[in-house]
Amino acid sequence: MLLKKANDLLRSYFGYEQFRQGQDVIIQNVLGGNDTLGIMPTGGGKSVCYQIPSLMMRGVTLVISPLISLMKDQVDALDKLGIPSTYINSSVSDKDLRERLSGVYHGKFKLIYIAPERLEAPSFLRLLQQIHISLIAIDEAHCISQWGHDFRPSYLKIQKLIANIHPKPVILALTATATPQVREDIRQLLHIKDNHVVVTGFARENLHFHVVKGQDRDLFLLDYLKKNSGQAGIIYAATRKEVERLHRQLVLKGIKAGKYHAGMPENTRSQYQEQFLFDDIQVIVATNAFGMGINKSNVRFVIHYNIPSNLEAYYQEAGRAGRDGEDSDCILLFAPQDSHIQSFLIEQSDMDEQRKENEYGKLRKMMAYGHTESCLQQYILHYFGEESPPECGRCGNCTDDREQMDVTVEAQKVLSCIRRMNEKFGKTMIAKVLTGSSDQKIRNFGFDKLSTYGIMSEKTQKETVELIDFLTAEGYLRPTDGTYPVLMLTEKAAAVLRGLQQVKRKEKVSVSQVVEDDQLFEVLRKLRREIAAAERVPPYIIFSDTTLKEMSARLPMTGEEMRQMKGVGEKKLEAYGSAFLTEIVRYCKENGIERDGRFDLKNVQAAKPVKQGQTPSHHITYEMWKKGMEIAEIAKERGLSARTIETHLLKCPADGLPVDWEAFIPENYEEIIDEAVKEAGTERLTPIKELLPEEISYFMIRAFLEKQKTV
Ligand code: ADP
Repeated sequence: MLLKKANDLLRSYFGYEQFRQGQDVIIQNVLGGNDTLGIMPTGGGKSVCYQIPSLMMRGVTLVISPLISLMKDQVDALDKLGIPSTYINSSVSDKDLRERLSGVYHGKFKLIYIAPERLEAPSFLRLLQQIHISLIAIDEAHCISQWGHDFRPSYLKIQKLIANIHPKPVILALTATATPQVREDIRQLLHIKDNHVVVTGFARENLHFHVVKGQDRDLFLLDYLKKNSGQAGIIYAATRKEVERLHRQLVLKGIKAGKYHAGMPENTRSQYQEQFLFDDIQVIVATNAFGMGINKSNVRFVIHYNIPSNLEAYYQEAGRAGRDGEDSDCILLFAPQDSHIQSFLIEQSDMDEQRKENEYGKLRKMMAYGHTESCLQQYILHYFGEESPPECGRCGNCTDDREQMDVTVEAQKVLSCIRRMNEKFGKTMIAKVLTGSSDQKIRNFGFDKLSTYGIMSEKTQKETVELIDFLTAEGYLRPTDGTYPVLMLTEKAAAVLRGLQQVKRKEKVSVSQVVEDDQLFEVLRKLRREIAAAERVPPYIIFSDTTLKEMSARLPMTGEEMRQMKGVGEKKLEAYGSAFLTEIVRYCKENGIERDGRFDLKNVQAAKPVKQGQTPSHHITYEMWKKGMEIAEIAKERGLSARTIETHLLKCPADGLPVDWEAFIPENYEEIIDEAVKEAGTERLTPIKELLPEEISYFMIRAFLEKQKTV
């Protein structure tokens, strides 16, 4: 009963058809009066878990969040949905504060967002005792644990607050990042019962993780940004100096980039942040000071130029990509020597020895992530305590089909040169000796007399440095601390020199596009930006990318059809429906797309191959495939991901282009896939995959489901 009501509210206020995994359980728990701990990945939809109950419970919901910038965002978003809310934190002027407090006292709001520091003000606590608080939602609940990566002492005040409010409100603690140790800590500190902990999987089905190593990072970055221009992304670097350097470099190349670090003046920082939120700049280069409370849902990629301190931080930062559920990239540009920066920070901190040891352990696991050759998502999920997570089938390792080349002889040349130079120099000097540079310094050291001098003269110095970077990334060389690390040989290198171990090197990771071009989507995006600018809110608050994509794919032409789009609730339909409908109709007319008034998906798909004379992207893929090219080859040639190419091929039958299903799904697999589908349903792929043997890929499952639709 209650859940049905909750579902109705989800539809009418938020425009979503059904709850996501875990949301319903959490909401039912809360409505049943149970204190609950909900653990959901970023973008999993935690806010709805307290926003819907707040609409159903008498009194107000107090939301405690450490993220000041997020509060404004949330309140703006709630305002657009027609839910009265406010926030109280240090950014609010005295006059506004008085008004808001009076509003709180007079019951004007359903939700009140506060920063935990507010709990230290006795007058505010007295006010809270005078109103009816039915629910306290604690966002980023890991901040209460000293073992978390983001401990906030003022979070400990929450316990006292709870003890002093009568009748006791229901407590809902929420977090996206919690190792089993932190989870247990939160539970005990807030006295939440074991059976009221709801953990949904940590997996983010739309994130594509990649580790790029042994490659020139600057070149990779520029190449990636060029290929993905127009998409929003965050680039994290470890130090302010690095942020400044990268930012300068990108701006020089004509990329619309902003920067953000704690050493910048407050107003410049927030200006850049604002421009990023409003889609006025494409990327932001930042230290980890950026992002807490950034709710921007259309971030399409997060690139880490350096490794972060641990996987909690990594998953949280990387997880800022694709909150709207659209495909997004999370790329780590891995260089082992970067661990020195992190070790230095641990060493310099005022943590006690035990905590330092704990932090070093986490750093080692972060490094191992950079080195692992197995599924990256699986590695992360394992770290967060999931028992036997399946392979994701999307990450750089799962989809790695690069050729391997035997570079043992080249490696031996490099390693033996380093040995002859007594392991006392950095990569530039080593590369100079190998390529036979006439640099005066080399003669001064007498390196031109070494047998390895000029032994790689057929390569450029840059290529040689890249090879050295590769050998470092693979653990044949160990860099010392400092800005200009000296390279030393490892045990692994010794085995190579003795001819006991081969060295295989893969081709470079090539850059691909995260989002396919879609003209109507771009048109709608422009309209969204105009409306957002007029209303002074970030564009994603008007509609998410997912909503615009759906409009572009399904071409709604009446208010009723518009209401069916994911993310279009009553209030937004009223406010923006007609502007978007007008634009869609205009676009269809201009491009000769016909659709009868009825809403029919098949019709829309048939109408989709848009402009006369312009071949849809998946048809181009189809032609190449018909010529006998492999998926990987097509992906490479077109600069798209293999997954995109797969999606293209699966779209073809609906357009009347026949595919050979047996090429996608080996015949003897069909039966077991069929059984698995019957058992797990068709809503999500992962549960199906889990029931099947390893060799059955996600693509085979997707192909099977498509085949069923068309055959
Ligand atoms: P989190 O706080 O867990 O990172 P949010 O609460 O910001 O996630 O939600 C992420 C996105 O998912 C938002 O755009 C939100 O509107 C959307 N969302 C939440 N619940 C649903 C649902 N049941 N169906 C579709 N989208 C949803």
